[in-house]
Amino acid sequence: MGGKSDIRLIDENGIRIDGRRRDEMRPVRIEAGVLKRADGSAYLEWGDNKVIAAVYGPREVHPKHLQETNRAIVQYYYAMAPFSVDDRKRPGPDRRSTEISKISAEALENVIFVEQFPRTTIDVYVTVLQASAGTRCAALTAASVAVADAGIPMRDLVAACAAGKVEDQVVLDLVKEEDNFGQADMPIAIVPKTGEIVLMQMDGHMTLDEIDEAMDMAIKACYDIYEIQKEALWKKYERLAEEEVV
Ligand code: UDP
Repeated sequence: MGGKSDIRLIDENGIRIDGRRRDEMRPVRIEAGVLKRADGSAYLEWGDNKVIAAVYGPREVHPKHLQETNRAIVQYYYAMAPFSVDDRKRPGPDRRSTEISKISAEALENVIFVEQFPRTTIDVYVTVLQASAGTRCAALTAASVAVADAGIPMRDLVAACAAGKVEDQVVLDLVKEEDNFGQADMPIAIVPKTGEIVLMQMDGHMTLDEIDEAMDMAIKACYDIYEIQKEALWKKYERLAEEEVV
């Protein structure tokens, strides 16, 4: 973020490095129920990002001292596959993945009826298979579909998207080059039914007006993501219904 570059990231016609306009999101595709051994799962492609999410639970907590007597805990494990980025990513947790896991678990705890499952854990594993910026939003979007696919009671889904600043302009859903050489990146996640913001971070600098504009753009995009999430879940249930008929 904020690195100097000679590359023009937005041309004189307002077209970005990958051909998008300022307020355009990359194409998003989600499939629910892709893993047989998980209680719930989802595969998501978001531009060049590829993410898989697997959910287990509610199940017994190990180690036991982590358990809460009045609610389920949500344990979220964000991981990047070694081959997901240009330079090989060293396997295992690091500061970045620990931070992403923590804030994503907190976002999901807002929508899961955790009080219905005391002393249990809901484990959410998200692996980034291919990364091109915006992976925490992609991961949380997929994880939320996987939790719903597991049949875990939820108030709503969580939908996420980032907006930021590139060449002094507010843009939606930064791609890797924009994230590396841009001025700011602000991931946001919302509960679409209520409009509550359950995750918001910012790397870089924006003025208050720019933050307003970026928030509007990202929140609007979250509602588009929400439709794609619901569609993925509908498709899964249609598939199940067809299998039952046969
Ligand atoms: N990235 C990388 N190696 C790493 C971490 C990140 O190449 O160890 C790249 C990857 O493409 C990622 C991007 O940098 O999507 C932006 O990372 P950031 O920490 O901003 O999180 P994200 O935007 O993916 O949520």
